[in-house]
Amino acid sequence: MEKLYEGKAKILYPTDDPEVLLTHFKDDATAFNAQKRGTIQGKGEINCKISTALFQWLESQDIATHFLEQPSPDQMLVRRVKILPLEVVIRNIAAGSLCRQTGLKEGQILSFPLVEFYLKNDELGDPLLTRDRILILELATPEQLEKLQNLALTINQYLQQFFESCQITLVDFKLEFGIDSQGRLLLADEISPDTCRLWDQTETDPQARVLDKDRFRRDLGQVEAAYQQVQQRVLAKLSQGKI
Ligand code: ADP
Ligand code: MG
Repeated sequence: MEKLYEGKAKILYPTDDPEVLLTHFKDDATAFNAQKRGTIQGKGEINCKISTALFQWLESQDIATHFLEQPSPDQMLVRRVKILPLEVVIRNIAAGSLCRQTGLKEGQILSFPLVEFYLKNDELGDPLLTRDRILILELATPEQLEKLQNLALTINQYLQQFFESCQITLVDFKLEFGIDSQGRLLLADEISPDTCRLWDQTETDPQARVLDKDRFRRDLGQVEAAYQQVQQRVLAKLSQGKI
């Protein structure tokens, strides 16, 4: 099948329906703007399953997403959108670049959820944006920006609640949004241990508790096991239906 686009973590294929794309989730892993590369065995299937579960949970809470169907373990049918060139990051606890750039200590609970916008541009290293930069660059309208901010906070509440029920702390995560052919704003891309920081509440050791891509970034080992752990807890919760 002819590829429409191959990214770092997924391949997009067209389908018979121009409004629908088939996404294939890869085992490839990259970090630090693709300077570090590797594979995480089974990641494609795991991330596809976790993303599917979380999109279904969010849909059940009336959040509009691109998710349509999971036809096989590492494939997702999605509604085609025009992706806004923004990465929306929501942080509940300080970690990663927030600590490097502000001096906040890793693990510091933020007094309110922080919503940040980064430019989705690998060549420029995905720089942090300001509201005015977004408007100057015409990356979103003021109305869209307002909507994105509120949507991001609402999604954060649902995901925090979901992960809490899995005894996992949602430290921070990245979302992508797009506009479909009918002009609707949809949550797109993926929600997985590649795009979230997730800490195991049953572990106190600051390295042992890491259940996300930081295990790969920081060479902490047990990367596959951590991803599997998230999958197991998330899928179990969704099938029990008690969140
Ligand atoms: P990247 O290397 O940019 O992180 P990925 O491999 O994660 O890319 O994903 C492939 C691309 O698919 C990304 O550019 C993402 O924005 C895009 N994408 C995700 N969902 C959709 C969708 N529903 N319609 C169109 N493009 C999408
Ligand atoms: Mg990506």
